[in-house]
Amino acid sequence: MRGTFKIVIDAKWCKGCGLCLAECPKDVLQWSGARSAKGYNVPVQDETKVCTGCRLCELICPDQAIRVEGERQ
Ligand code: SF4
Ligand code: SF4
Repeated sequence: MRGTFKIVIDAKWCKGCGLCLAECPKDVLQWSGARSAKGYNVPVQDETKVCTGCRLCELICPDQAIRVEGERQ
């Protein structure tokens, strides 16, 4: 599978539940260690891991805070 994917997380909506980290089959999402304005720990994309663009993280997020940018080719 080819393509480069960017994970965009809107810290305004993320509540740090960790569901996206648990769901990602490629271990792409990690805790950033940075707190949002609401005080939640927000995930970040680990650029050393290969995101396949499966969009499971996007689908599992209960707050629609995560978006996968890029197209599968
Ligand atoms: S799109 Fe798939 S592989 Fe990429 S971060 Fe989300 S769950 Fe992981
Ligand atoms: S699933 Fe959504 S709300 Fe939960 S940590 Fe991930 S981006 Fe934040």
